[in-house]
Amino acid sequence: MLIVNAKLVTWERENRILDDHAVYIEEDRIVEIGPQAELEETYHEAEVVDAAGQIVMPGNICAHTHFYGAYARGMAIPGNPPKDFPEILEKLWWPLDKALDEESVRASALVHLVDAIKHGTTTLFDHHASPNFIEGSLDVIADAVDESGLRSVLCYEVTDRDGGQKAHQGIQENVDFIQKAAGGEVAGGRVRATFGLHASLTLSDETLSMCRQAQPEGAGFHIHVAEHEADEYDSQYKSGMRVVDRLNAFGILGPRTIVAHGVHIDFVEARLLAESGTWLTHQPRSNMNNGVGVAQIENLMRLGVNVCLGNDGFTQDMWTEWKTAYLLHKVWHTDPRRMNGLDIVQMGVYNNAALAGVFYPDMQLGRLVEGAAADLIFVDYHPFTPLTAGNLPWHIIFGFNESMVTSTMVAGKFLMRDRELLTLDEAAIAAEALALAPDVWSRYEAFAS
Ligand SMILES: [Zn+2]
Repeated sequence: MLIVNAKLVTWERENRILDDHAVYIEEDRIVEIGPQAELEETYHEAEVVDAAGQIVMPGNICAHTHFYGAYARGMAIPGNPPKDFPEILEKLWWPLDKALDEESVRASALVHLVDAIKHGTTTLFDHHASPNFIEGSLDVIADAVDESGLRSVLCYEVTDRDGGQKAHQGIQENVDFIQKAAGGEVAGGRVRATFGLHASLTLSDETLSMCRQAQPEGAGFHIHVAEHEADEYDSQYKSGMRVVDRLNAFGILGPRTIVAHGVHIDFVEARLLAESGTWLTHQPRSNMNNGVGVAQIENLMRLGVNVCLGNDGFTQDMWTEWKTAYLLHKVWHTDPRRMNGLDIVQMGVYNNAALAGVFYPDMQLGRLVEGAAADLIFVDYHPFTPLTAGNLPWHIIFGFNESMVTSTMVAGKFLMRDRELLTLDEAAIAAEALALAPDVWSRYEAFAS
């Protein structure tokens, strides 16, 4: 396949924008990028895709999300509104995850996958919980991802909050799925796995050490860290250590481990993350919504922590997360110079791509270069001021929006072309999810009261 008449954004380390260039794709990879006239001659028999002047760039990557949260949309929380994050967990998320069964886990995943394809997010790190449907839950999500054509790294959130038996089941679900995915054959290699842990505050020492012992060789962990002060106080009460120190003591940190949030970590914890090569993900929309504070992202990056960008299960449009991060740190510090657009790109593009590379070592993701995976999006953006490789971050922050994504390709296959979804039936998925909603919500209400 030869993509012509595009403005190519490569997201190489020194970003380039290429006009009058074409991209030749074979199977799931980008084979050649070069001047359009030359490639048209070389590949004159190839199927031609006319981008009609659109921007063609690598698909976005989301480093932390929760497909299972879909049914929270529009849902009323009974009683007084939660006053802080611990109450949000108790009144919203924990009763909701208990309400999920096999059908609603599938529906939750599918609605997020539709959203991701429509809005140009092609690789997603999911963090799943459904305590009344644990065994096989990751297979159900993997099947949905397979059907969608997207890439996803899956895990199950182990926790003690539903008792020892369910903690064991959670461990087993991670181990089984990690072993299954290790062959690189789940969803044709598009689905990979890591070991999920909910958060230090719902994990005992016994469970943490069981997880560490059960961890298959080479698998990392994916866990929430210090999203609220309560996580730090709980850890100090339980162990005399702060959260990151505690996780370090159990061998949880490392270059294959992802910690989400880190809003309340201290300097020593930050240094531990940097020294261990642990990935930290930033989800500003979620932090603002939960009123948990603002992670010291610029300081963490200066210290050498690899900070990535996730969305915590908000909409699957990563540029909205870019914009939120860009604005949040300015207002928090009352200083418009804070959180430079290049820092956003460092997180949202380069670090997310490097993280994806840990789980997909056999391919390059997040870059439009020869040999990379053909995971591309077409963006119908026509700048009215000069667009350069240097000022692209600000065109994205102030000009792009996700509805400009007209086509999404993963592994050389269009999942959406000219705004038509080709792998998933959005109307049918929404109708099925909607039909399940009354039962999900009524089970939620029963668990919530
Ligand atoms: Zn999360």
